[in-house]
Amino acid sequence: MNDENARTALTGVRSRELYERACRVIPGGVSSPVRAFRAVGGTPLFIERGAGQYLYDVDGRRYLDVVNSWGALILGHAHPLVIEAVTRACHDGTTFGAPCPAEVGLAERITASYPGLEQVRFVSSGTEAVMSAVRVARAATGRDLIVKFSGCYHGHADHLLVAAGSGLATFGRPSSAGVPAAFVAATRVLPLDDEEALQALFAADGERIAAVIIEPTPANHGLLLQRRAFLQALAQATARQGALLIFDEVISGFRLARGGIAELTGITPDMATFGKVIGGGMPVGAFGGSRAVMAHLAPDGDTYQAGTLSGNPVAMAAGLTTLDLLMAGSVWQRLETLGAALEEALAPVLAQAPFPLRLVRAGSLFWLSLHEGDAPRTAATLAPKALARFAALFHAMLARGVYLPPSAYEACFLSASFGEEDIGYFADALKESVLVASNPP
Ligand code: PMP
Repeated sequence: MNDENARTALTGVRSRELYERACRVIPGGVSSPVRAFRAVGGTPLFIERGAGQYLYDVDGRRYLDVVNSWGALILGHAHPLVIEAVTRACHDGTTFGAPCPAEVGLAERITASYPGLEQVRFVSSGTEAVMSAVRVARAATGRDLIVKFSGCYHGHADHLLVAAGSGLATFGRPSSAGVPAAFVAATRVLPLDDEEALQALFAADGERIAAVIIEPTPANHGLLLQRRAFLQALAQATARQGALLIFDEVISGFRLARGGIAELTGITPDMATFGKVIGGGMPVGAFGGSRAVMAHLAPDGDTYQAGTLSGNPVAMAAGLTTLDLLMAGSVWQRLETLGAALEEALAPVLAQAPFPLRLVRAGSLFWLSLHEGDAPRTAATLAPKALARFAALFHAMLARGVYLPPSAYEACFLSASFGEEDIGYFADALKESVLVASNPP
């Protein structure tokens, strides 16, 4: 336990007070469900500020943060140059509802970085980016069906909130109340890592498929690293049938490499979606493709899409500064070095853990998997015992000043503000926490 936390251990009074107030006026007390700590129990921390690799809660406790706003903060909290750019932009006005120079600059950087991308349009979230990309794909192909994969999350748009089937292709069934079955009737769900299921669906319905969408490095059901051959099969199947391949790089874009998973695999999708890193901590999403595909969008084309705050000057300034810092500083190399150091530091801890615990990692993106056996490539569910162990692990880490995501299925993120000593701190905290979690209540 770090000193600061020891002083305030077992208090958290202000977080609890705020949570009570929040629950009265905000459903579940939170603006996004996972923040409510339901999967791990306890009261969510209310955060007062962030600085570098640390979060500070309203009770004055400090946490080493491996959530980093769910991957949005690749440079860490309140990077001085990002804050300077945002502050400068704010002084000039926070929104114009008209084009601004920074959005041109950000679009130029994204299109110059990502293979095959000629144009992008900005929106305010990953959800919007995916929703709009799918609409364009349908317009571009004149087809309706969308194929997604079990375990991949693409935001909360109706037609992508679809329960996953196991084994074979399933017809979409909504995984949320409030989504009419008719809205997901044109969505098909396939298992990851299964070329046969893919070929079977294309053989049956290929001519109706507008797009196949995938997180090329799925990071919303743990981290399910895919075989390149599988992604290649998707690219071949879509190309053969005149369907579009959409890489949802909301997490992986500019996180793992300048050109995302497209660069790392050499597989160029027809369209890509972005969020998180490209906004430098501000609400930004983007979707793009070739000029021919994007020509379907209004005002040039007949596919409507719009946003009052899209291309917002403050958000664009944060994104632009972040991408410039990433590109100027070989930051991805540094993040890989940090990730490798984490792997090395955790190896003895994981080897000695009295229950299954493994590190699955891609660069600065990692997952502590509690699955038995090999790291899964498909969306396997965890046994109740493993979930209970994770909850205990989460709270033991929190007590030691480490903020893990409050769910066993969520991935973790390092930021460039981490140093080697933070990796050591994380490993030490995990070593102690694993012992605490070996006998969950
Ligand atoms: N796609 C992916 C791959 C995501 O991880 C997320 C969010 N975690 C989204 C889309 C939706 O993004 P947002 O939460 O910004 O709407």
